[in-house]
Amino acid sequence: MIEECAAIGLLIKQLPRSACGGHVWHRGDALLDALLVARLLRAGHAPASLAANLASPFLGRPKALQAMLQAPALAIPAAIATTLLEVVVQVPQLLPEKFRRAQLHQANTETIIGVLMQMQCNMTGVVEHSRFESVGSAVFAEGSLANHDCAPTCQFLFLFAGEGLRPTLKLQAVRDLEAGASLTISYGDLARPVWERRRNLQASHWFSCKCSKCMQDLTAQGLLKQVHLVSDAKGQLLQALFERTLPEEAELQKMLSVFRALKLPFASSAANAAVGAALKDLSRLEPLDRSESEAPGLEARARSNLKLIRGILAKLLPAVHREAVILQELRGLALSTAELAKDPETVLEMAGELLDRCERWYGPLHLKRCSLLRAQAAAHGTLGSKLRAAEAAGTLAELQARLGLSEGVGNCAKDTADQEAETAFVCELDAMD
Ligand SMILES: [Zn+2]
Repeated sequence: MIEECAAIGLLIKQLPRSACGGHVWHRGDALLDALLVARLLRAGHAPASLAANLASPFLGRPKALQAMLQAPALAIPAAIATTLLEVVVQVPQLLPEKFRRAQLHQANTETIIGVLMQMQCNMTGVVEHSRFESVGSAVFAEGSLANHDCAPTCQFLFLFAGEGLRPTLKLQAVRDLEAGASLTISYGDLARPVWERRRNLQASHWFSCKCSKCMQDLTAQGLLKQVHLVSDAKGQLLQALFERTLPEEAELQKMLSVFRALKLPFASSAANAAVGAALKDLSRLEPLDRSESEAPGLEARARSNLKLIRGILAKLLPAVHREAVILQELRGLALSTAELAKDPETVLEMAGELLDRCERWYGPLHLKRCSLLRAQAAAHGTLGSKLRAAEAAGTLAELQARLGLSEGVGNCAKDTADQEAETAFVCELDAMD
């Protein structure tokens, strides 16, 4: 697109970097968001025309927008809007005619922010199931109707019909459902403790989750269970995480009083030195691009990264509870690095550990299990343990049949008898134009 080519250089130059680094805006970087919003506006998708399908925190509430414009979290959308309106002076084709009129500056800024907010609240990460890797973001008009719940009844699956084709979204039940049950999904990571889940949802979707799981997790007993997701021997990491992730001071104080009453170790200093040093080591990892798996030197770089990650894990193990999310993340990183480093022993070890927790935290039908089982089967195969490889491959095939996925193709069509036998409810949704 000619108008975009002319605008890209200007946008890169004018989008303020500082505003883009300090706040959560995790649906792609500001440049891509700017280009996408311009594309939507050129196509005539003003917020009003999207309103029927797409939720937004201030749709139809102009006063709420005015108040929210002051919020630090809107710094990035506001910067994108201002930059687009500046760039349109030099590249008029970038936006429709009304956006070129200076006297409409405030209204135009609000329109652009409105579209950006709709994108933020309704986009979903598209995950390629064989690797459980995000390959991009998309807005599915019907899919975006699914509300959030921290104990969701459904999950999204993406089926890729072929190279270059748009994915199809499936909404799949993760357990048997009564007639009339709400079809909900999770907008975030379910393995996270309640305070982190709620903080993340507030930042990404502008609401404070009050689902029954959150309410249960916020009771004294619930909190005690949550502590196992992050707890450490001296309570220092927990303290640091709390301070970083709780949205409100009042909530932090409430939780602290619960922990004190329960006599949990809860240090008052910052995260302890071992954790700090270990996390600092992570910044020394070499960047690896999995899509270039044949790139020269990739395997060697992956091996050196793996060594570093294993060192970090060893440092963290005595400081952090074995169940802690932070350790699981590092194990996940070790697994993907070990695959690139062609180190089947580490792949086996990490996949084994993660499978266990994956089932406990996300349930037996979670997509993440596919990639773990696949890694396990391949590692057993490389190490020559045919029986174990066949066992893992068998479990994988069973799970994929249950999910309606088949290797490499978007196998949407299943015969009716088969579908009736499935307890899971599946419906297909089309990607929005
Ligand atoms: Zn919740």
